[in-house]
Amino acid sequence: MSLADRWRAARPAVAGVHLDSGACSRQSVAAIDAAGQHARHEAEVGGYVAAEAAAPVLDAGRAALAALTGLASTDFVFTTGANNALDLLLGAWPGDRTAACLPGEYGPNLAIMAANGFAVRALPADGHGRLDVAAAARQLAADPPALVHLTALASHRGLAQPLSALAATCAELGVPLVVDAAQALGHLDCAVTPAAIYGSSRKWIAGPRGVGFLGIHRELARRLQPRLPPPEWNLPSSVLQRLEHGEANVAARVGFSVALGEHLADGPAAVRTRLAEVGRMTRDAVAGLDRWRVVEPHDEPTAITTLAPTDGADPQMIRNWLIAEHRIVTTFADVQRAPFEMTAPVLRASPHVDVTDEELARFAEALAAAG
Ligand SMILES: *Cc1c(COP(=O)(O)O)cnc(C)c1O
Repeated sequence: MSLADRWRAARPAVAGVHLDSGACSRQSVAAIDAAGQHARHEAEVGGYVAAEAAAPVLDAGRAALAALTGLASTDFVFTTGANNALDLLLGAWPGDRTAACLPGEYGPNLAIMAANGFAVRALPADGHGRLDVAAAARQLAADPPALVHLTALASHRGLAQPLSALAATCAELGVPLVVDAAQALGHLDCAVTPAAIYGSSRKWIAGPRGVGFLGIHRELARRLQPRLPPPEWNLPSSVLQRLEHGEANVAARVGFSVALGEHLADGPAAVRTRLAEVGRMTRDAVAGLDRWRVVEPHDEPTAITTLAPTDGADPQMIRNWLIAEHRIVTTFADVQRAPFEMTAPVLRASPHVDVTDEELARFAEALAAAG
């Protein structure tokens, strides 16, 4: 069976056409069942006893995250999502609070940087919004910020940023690189051993909602100062224990760990190749539409395709209409997602590996007919 067929067969049947993995992929039956089993076990033996019994599954999840990022499995904590991970990291940041990131940085990340007192400066980018690595290297060498933040794949535009080249530059300059892998994990190669990397379960890894991860290289972890409990109390817990402390949906972490295991079993390289193909299929399917312009280059190796209306159509209304009339699920992306790059809202199609040409043709036909 092909990867596409296996992936589809592992899930409940889709109601309609799902082109929304950038928001939330469809979970496998195995991931859903594992989370359900854990909840059942909590009822049988008690939530805290069940959590201890789940430790090996969660360790396997952390080991999978390590394999996908180049960090060690002991470098990871689970979070409630990507935003929560960034807030935890920046809230514990020692010393100078300056960050460099692309002009197209994700709006909520900019808000978290601001709330944590970070002064942000722009990294150089080309006309598409892609990082200019050579110019960035010169800028970072001349005036290094406390950290470089890269969203390796954005939510509002399917551009694969040059993550490994920037990681090499940052390593050479000794500037910590923090990677937002919310869209990149399970989609692009993230095994660059950054200072820190974080993301979500529900997007391309297709785990449950409400869970994410934060990986911190041990050299950075040593320097961090989590706010809670107050450092001067000198409690014996480690930095990672302090960051992870608090109530958690353990069942969701179990489901995420199972989804990570399934991703490794599918083969991350095979998934990446297929998602690049899915991106080309999607852009081919919509290339002939009169009233929409595809934002990404045709061969961009991502499965995120964004469509900008050329005749004033409202992407939010079209998104709602596609669901109501055709059960085709896409995303409406407002300018708030990248307030210093986007000038108008777009419609995003983000199919996973199992999409078919027939489904994409239905999407294109529906868009052509949209009033
Ligand atoms: C979805 C997304 C986030 C936020 O993730 P949450 O898990 O909802 O906090 C951050 N960055 C990017 C690029 C995203 O696409």
